[in-house]
Amino acid sequence: MKRFDYTRAATPAEAIAASAAEGAVYLGGGTNLLDLMKGNVLRPDRLVDVTHVAGLDRIERLPDGSTRVGALVRNGDLAHDPAFAKSYPAVAEALLSGASAQLRNAATTGGNLLQRTRCPYFTDGVSACNKRVPGSGCDAVGGDTRLHAVLGWSDSCIAVHPSDFCVPLAALGATVEIEGKGGPRSVPLVEFHRLPGDEPQRETVLEPGDLVTAVVLPAEAAGFAAHSRYLKVRDRTSYAFAVVSAAAALKLDGDRVAEARLAFGGVALKPWRSAEAEAALRGQPATVASFRRAAEVALADAKPSGDNSYKIELARRIAVRAFTLALSGTPERVPALPASPFSSPLGVAAHA
Ligand code: SF4
Repeated sequence: MKRFDYTRAATPAEAIAASAAEGAVYLGGGTNLLDLMKGNVLRPDRLVDVTHVAGLDRIERLPDGSTRVGALVRNGDLAHDPAFAKSYPAVAEALLSGASAQLRNAATTGGNLLQRTRCPYFTDGVSACNKRVPGSGCDAVGGDTRLHAVLGWSDSCIAVHPSDFCVPLAALGATVEIEGKGGPRSVPLVEFHRLPGDEPQRETVLEPGDLVTAVVLPAEAAGFAAHSRYLKVRDRTSYAFAVVSAAAALKLDGDRVAEARLAFGGVALKPWRSAEAEAALRGQPATVASFRRAAEVALADAKPSGDNSYKIELARRIAVRAFTLALSGTPERVPALPASPFSSPLGVAAHA
């Protein structure tokens, strides 16, 4: 492991100033960064520890009814906050589906957004990887691509973003608060992560020195609380990243869909919200047939990046299943083990 400097910041301004040094990176929970440093994949010169920055560890209900989650709120604390889980159950469910209890107790809200891809050619530290060494090529192309992207990929990079948390955040219209050299600003979560294009090393819209300070969920998103789920397919039941996941949420008007939300994980280098599928469901009967049509719309532009065409139909089926579960109602308690497509009851959707 390369030697590095360590400094601790007490305020956002101190953190931003300290990060101006060459090779500096922010340290939050460290659950991803330190792993990659130990594997010699990342070699920062300086860690700017932001875990003691005041005021970033709160969950606050704002006057307009929205909920502001500080960047240092731990994933486990957020998932188990009763008021938060009641208003945004799919977010709590997604959080509980990620990693392990120990990791959730260390990982932060801000760090979850900024975690790096688990593409094995990135994390092995030696393969050609445009994300790790720009311009070096991509050994994933033509390699083992079972878990790679089917939406939004480019010839430069076919990796996927690994977060569960970000998927319902995208579906529910969350925004990211950022403090930078130019002052504070706010970015919709769906615009926060970048698709690879020909610069896969640029993963977000953050500029050098920018510090994520909070994620805000709008008040209106709590209107989906009665009918929202996060469903994740993975290679084993726990402690694994999504092969494909979906956050699905409904507002109902009788037996019709008044409004729908849908986002996928495991299919692209960002959480993938489908506004087209949501529009296709508006006003339609709340049936499996409608959900299937919406899923077709959501995946209309999908194409395999290698040996992973199975993911496209899997994503359609996960979307239908997630909507079907959402229709039958959000469980009173988020299950200790979140929804598995192999163990959850199908719900009560009418087949049409
Ligand atoms: Fe690197 Fe992306 Fe290629 Fe993986 S898919 S090796 S992260 S460039």
